[in-house]
Amino acid sequence: MSEKPVRHILGLSGGKDSTALAILLHKEIPEMEYFFCDTHKELSETYQYLQRIKARLGIKIQHLNAERGFDHWLDIYGGFLPSPKMRWCTKKLKIEPLEKFVGDDEAISYIGIRADENRDGYISTKPKIKPVYPFKERGLVKTDIIRLLEESGIGLPDYYRWRSRSGCFFCFFQRKYEWVMLAQEHPDLFAEAVKYEQEHSDGRRYTWTEGENLLELIARKDEIIAEHDKAVAKEKKVASNTSLAEALGSVLDEDDDDDDLPCLACQL
Ligand code: SF4
Repeated sequence: MSEKPVRHILGLSGGKDSTALAILLHKEIPEMEYFFCDTHKELSETYQYLQRIKARLGIKIQHLNAERGFDHWLDIYGGFLPSPKMRWCTKKLKIEPLEKFVGDDEAISYIGIRADENRDGYISTKPKIKPVYPFKERGLVKTDIIRLLEESGIGLPDYYRWRSRSGCFFCFFQRKYEWVMLAQEHPDLFAEAVKYEQEHSDGRRYTWTEGENLLELIARKDEIIAEHDKAVAKEKKVASNTSLAEALGSVLDEDDDDDDLPCLACQL
């Protein structure tokens, strides 16, 4: 009996790094299977970006979690919202769907960690899923990723103007400035995040962002924007030949090396 061939898989998050990885590999590995773990709570910009990737590269992207998104699991967890310390969302919406998708097959999972990042990253505890890091192997850094995106005609995701990461619109890892911008860009989603926060069910105060709830945060929005603008101006002064977009990206990205980050499936 012939052995089942090893599968090649690449998870697209709707972020810049996994997209650049697909650009780099789609011709080299034509049998690559692309997947997207859909939490049902993504920004519309993310879905548009996935469409753009499909059209430009001529690839198919399988959506995992198509039936059961965040709200289903929130019910199962008794209305208890996830947090950096209780990340059931990553487990249920990203890791388990990936492991189900692979089943008992042997697979090589291609991961978009750059050579200028200091992380190994999680993908799966399953021994049959072997992670590989093509950017690291080839010494590709952030400027190479931006170049790949530009040359392909795909470019950066539209949300990159105001937010550095893909993932749920209410992700508790987002910065305070990104919350302010969510309120500006998607007031309906901001209102939904406020509702989640207010309906959190364990009787204790829950806040998506540290130290204040979203209504308190938005009342301070001018202060938060001013702090952010100051950081961008400082970044631009340090690297004087940097464009405004790059300076903004650097400020939003600056905690990329923090250990306390969402799983890579949420982020790259
Ligand atoms: S993006 Fe954030 S909220 Fe969504 S699954 Fe990942 S860690 Fe959880």
